[in-house]
Amino acid sequence: MSEVFVAATHNKGKLKEMEAIVKKLGIDMITRDEAGVPHDYDIVEDGETLEENSYKKAYAIMKMTNLPSIADDTGLMVDYLNGAPGVYTGRFGGPEESADKNNAKLLDVMKDCPKDKRTAKFVTVITLVYPDGKKIVARGECHGRIAEKKCGTNGFGYDPLFIPEGSDLTFAELGTDYKNTISHRRRALEDLERILEGK
Ligand code: IMP
Repeated sequence: MSEVFVAATHNKGKLKEMEAIVKKLGIDMITRDEAGVPHDYDIVEDGETLEENSYKKAYAIMKMTNLPSIADDTGLMVDYLNGAPGVYTGRFGGPEESADKNNAKLLDVMKDCPKDKRTAKFVTVITLVYPDGKKIVARGECHGRIAEKKCGTNGFGYDPLFIPEGSDLTFAELGTDYKNTISHRRRALEDLERILEGK
């Protein structure tokens, strides 16, 4: 019987990306809904690090399903803001997560920041927790800079403001297919693949 991992996310895009990687290793991926987790079961992300939050989500789903469970957590670290918003990236613009508010706040707090000081990176941490308690932690980074205004319509979150290194276009202009080949999440998944292969 092939191994099955449960994805702690409801996000279809993330699921597709994860599926493509774990499939290569002969592992099937099912959603938390398919594993019987109530759709509105919410896991509070109150950790102080991306590692804590991704572990918390994966552990909670593993406890409910008794299957290996996988979760990710992403933060945007801006050098001009000393690494903020970091673990607070999702709710940077206010208590209810809103990409528009997050982007507006980021532009506002960086309005006096010169072009050459706008460096930043996305960091993704992926945690896989097995029912016996064993955990695997993978990590990926994508370096770049913050644009001075929103550009592009693809993607989600901070994509209209994030220009990856080596490009003059934002993730939202570059498009999801290309983004998914160089993104922080892709690199974290590749790290996970390396760790699982070496197991
Ligand atoms: P999460 O950990 O995936 O929920 O992401 C935390 C925050 O970072 C959310 O506000 C997301 O919209 C944002 N975010 C995560 N990944 C990306 C990305 O690839 N591009 C733009 N924003 C992202």
